[in-house]
Amino acid sequence: MEEKARKRLLKTLGMVPPLKRILTSKDPLLTKRKKIIELLTTMLIDSFEENPDVPSLKWILRRDAILVFRNIISRRSAVLAEFSLLKYIDDLIHDKRKRSVALPTPGFFAELDHLFRGISGHADVYPESVPAFAKYQGVKAAKLRSADLSRMARTVEKFSTRYPSGLDEDAKRRRYKNKQRILRYFDATGSEWDNWRWQVRHIIRDARTLSTLVKLTDEEYEAVKLVKRFEIPFGITPYYLSLMDYEPGQGRDEGIRAQVIPSLHYIHKLKEFKADKKRSMDFMLERDTSPVEGITRRYPQIVILKPVLTCPQICVYCQRNWEIENVYSRAAILSKAKVQKALDWIADTPEIKEVLITGGDPFILSNERIENLLFKLSRMEHIQRIRLGTRTPITLPQRITDALVKDINHFHIPGKREILIVSHFEHAYEITSQSVEAVQKFRRYGMEVYNQLVYTFFNSRKFEAAVARNRLRLIGVTPYYTFNTKGKEETDDYRVPIPRLLQEQKEEARLMPGTVRTDEIVFNVPGLGKNYLRALQNHDIISILPDGRRVYEFHPWEKKLALADTYVYTDVSIFDYLQKLKSIGENVSDYKTIWYYY
Ligand code: SF4
Repeated sequence: MEEKARKRLLKTLGMVPPLKRILTSKDPLLTKRKKIIELLTTMLIDSFEENPDVPSLKWILRRDAILVFRNIISRRSAVLAEFSLLKYIDDLIHDKRKRSVALPTPGFFAELDHLFRGISGHADVYPESVPAFAKYQGVKAAKLRSADLSRMARTVEKFSTRYPSGLDEDAKRRRYKNKQRILRYFDATGSEWDNWRWQVRHIIRDARTLSTLVKLTDEEYEAVKLVKRFEIPFGITPYYLSLMDYEPGQGRDEGIRAQVIPSLHYIHKLKEFKADKKRSMDFMLERDTSPVEGITRRYPQIVILKPVLTCPQICVYCQRNWEIENVYSRAAILSKAKVQKALDWIADTPEIKEVLITGGDPFILSNERIENLLFKLSRMEHIQRIRLGTRTPITLPQRITDALVKDINHFHIPGKREILIVSHFEHAYEITSQSVEAVQKFRRYGMEVYNQLVYTFFNSRKFEAAVARNRLRLIGVTPYYTFNTKGKEETDDYRVPIPRLLQEQKEEARLMPGTVRTDEIVFNVPGLGKNYLRALQNHDIISILPDGRRVYEFHPWEKKLALADTYVYTDVSIFDYLQKLKSIGENVSDYKTIWYYY
């Protein structure tokens, strides 16, 4: 094994011969590091000096790879990442690897291959020739460019047709049949179905009922069976269940199922973490940003108010899965006294201009309590905007009644105070006539609806999220944030490497009109808040681990305003992610440039 890994490594290093010469020499590691840094600096200068005609984009690609490698091999990066890539490579070459240190995986070599390809100027990104339109001017150039753009637009079209919308006629027919089946099971009527109270009374919480209403895979059945035993919050509203296809594996509803049906990996990891009394499940370090119970503050002008810690159903990847004890539980509502204390804190903090009411889902609360909250906030002169963060329009649209919307709308006074809704649609297949109607109720009163999409494995195929954003825009929902999943180990099945988010924005979202790509891609860094991923100035790659995972250093949003600390984060492996995509039938060559996003 060792010898095989060594040979493989030498082959990879062969892409940059002077680098290989330094690394195979007998010099001490410190000398090697110095020499490599000098070599990379020279390469950076020579890459232009020797060939000033190199196309600009190829030069930029090469420069980026050189800078990334130079940063990775710095001593500071090794200290921060608690792993020295340079020492690891050196030990492998000279047979000094300690047995306790893992052997390199295919994911590790894939990372190194692409990095060295980039450094040597041989990245497989651009075609050899420049596009035809660049050789001409005027109308001829315009016509050729237009033909190229049409080709790109047809690519968007080709991929878009793969992702059904819940508004497609055949989806509506399937859902109608599902609804009838569920109604028969509960011996209920259509008007009961339209009543949100009936829906919440019939939330499906166990494997036996669920498997009677929809066919489950063996793993799904097993996982749902275990949620009760391990006290993991789980439940599905009858309405949301009707969005699932009866048979699994039809290539349409995998994202819908994965929203609520956990994997076995999730169940077992969560059980293990809960049993470990020393381990904090508060991954986002909310306790360090909560000055008073029910409040989270990470920014100067906005706070989160959490009056309730549950939802009509629980998303498997939810960042607050450690706080949520049960699905749709009345016990999860913060006591009136505690809510009042949180409100008093807001009243005493005039710097706060905006309050995001979330939790949990505030639409769990009664109309009276919601109205009361809004009333108390609206009496605070400094509060200009109140956001209601909710997934109810997607999981329980019946709850968005005319009465509720009217009660909320009282406080929406253009020019004085804005009330806006932040929804959480994940897929185009989640959009239905009912969710459209729920959105329209707010829009009719002039209240904006924004969407926060969590970018998981289940909506990360080529153009999948771009299609969802486009369809959301068509129903009056503005894409707002696209979130990287949190780095919680139990949600590994959902996690997508950061380069995929960057690639999606550059090569897919960017091909859509500007009115559709209004979202910002962010990583909500524990304790720090949102990091804007598309700006390279906000993060650095500091290592590549033997299993192919990249280690990043994230800069705080306060950078240049305060001396806050940075955050070190280990991503999921690109190689493993691509393998997973392959296993569901994706052509990984459609994603081949992912390696060159840093
Ligand atoms: S809707 Fe939001 S708060 Fe509720 S379970 Fe999903 S991610 Fe968590």
